[in-house]
Amino acid sequence: MAGLAAAAGFDDAGFVVELYERQSYDSKGVNCGEAMTAVSKIPLEPTVENGFLNPLPAMEVEVYDGIDADRHRTGAGTFPAADTYITDRNVVEQSWAEQLSEKGVDIHENQSITRTDFHEFTDEYDLVVDATGQPSLSSKALGTTNEYSGYMVALNSDVEGDFTELYPNSRIILENYTGYSWAFPKTSQRANVGIGWTVSDRPNDYMKALREACERNGWPVPSQERTNVAIIPEGPSLDPDRTHLPEHSVVRVGDAAGIANRLTGKGISQAIESGFLAAELANRGQLHNYPDRLYQRMKTEYIFATVVRYFLETRNPKVLGAAIRAAAGIDIEDVDRSPSTVLLRLLRHPVLFARIFSRRRVLNRVYGGMTNQWELID
Ligand SMILES: Cc1cc2nc3c(=O)[nH]c(=O)nc-3n(C[C@H](O)[C@H](O)[C@H](O)COP(=O)(O)OP(=O)(O)OC[C@H]3O[C@@H](n4cnc5c(N)ncnc54)[C@H](O)[C@@H]3O)c2cc1C
Repeated sequence: MAGLAAAAGFDDAGFVVELYERQSYDSKGVNCGEAMTAVSKIPLEPTVENGFLNPLPAMEVEVYDGIDADRHRTGAGTFPAADTYITDRNVVEQSWAEQLSEKGVDIHENQSITRTDFHEFTDEYDLVVDATGQPSLSSKALGTTNEYSGYMVALNSDVEGDFTELYPNSRIILENYTGYSWAFPKTSQRANVGIGWTVSDRPNDYMKALREACERNGWPVPSQERTNVAIIPEGPSLDPDRTHLPEHSVVRVGDAAGIANRLTGKGISQAIESGFLAAELANRGQLHNYPDRLYQRMKTEYIFATVVRYFLETRNPKVLGAAIRAAAGIDIEDVDRSPSTVLLRLLRHPVLFARIFSRRRVLNRVYGGMTNQWELID
């Protein structure tokens, strides 16, 4: 999605764009929950033909104190989801690629760019936009894959079953580990289900954990063959200064720039925003400002995600449940991307606010974020 957005943005700005994709858009596999927020930023009609299946009314979020049969729900909230769809993401990507191709963008499918190609490209082209996910091709080609600091492991599958109880809403379930499970119905009979964890908190047997999560939450259990395993960066997992490498004429966007949400792992709207931002700044001859502009845009999101994550990491489902109850009603995209909205809401609950922000380690994290210490502070 970051690569498509960058191609669209650079093409609109009058650059000559060539887009390389190692898969074919006709048969592209995607590792994702397929919930797309900020859909109006994508220059496509949000129709079923373009892959936008379920215009999501709301995301239901539930917090439990564990995964045992006698677990208790500590909080729940419903978050409206304007401008959000549950998609067939491969169809969205295919439609966007078709639109770009019709506009004259040269698209090379089934072409996996090697490290050697990468070095040739950086000599040959004025700019290489690296949108290859994490760890990015540029980091592989430059031997710097260890520059990424963290990621989540996530499993997902497109399953058929009876989702009439939930559809058209979707559900995220926090179950007292650093991550969550989800069911995002595309129709009343089909959904994307999955589960994710931070690396420090993952189980030994991923498939078993997914199976059990589906069973306890009443969702169909996917087969192993139809289940994808992938990683999501924990934004900012790449030093924000490293998102532009002028010495190699490379700019990194989306997961390659390490910017998916540190708490939720949601990264499509961030990927699209970064692709368009790189194009806008290049058009103005200001690409050197990209790292700073991207970081400033993401900073409050990083800090907020880090704070909330503290309560998952320290196993505190009571505070988390109370926070979900307090924040209910805020648009799901704002929860992720405009944390000031949530902070203002929490201020209406002074006791809860104090329970969250009176902790030294929480304040350390806020201070670390405010003072640009981008790695996870403890
Ligand atoms: C299980 C799971 C569920 C998720 N659910 C959601 C969700 O519901 N909503 C959300 O917003 N985010 C979700 N995310 C995060 C989201 O998927 C990513 O943040 C997003 O896909 C990032 O987009 P991207 O374009 O930067 O990278 P990617 O989607 O990783 O795309 C990289 C592209 O580069 C291509 N490529 C890679 N290497 C090469 C090469 N050498 N040559 C040519 N092409 C190459 C790949 O084929 C691919 O098309 C989820 C992630 C996971 C793992």
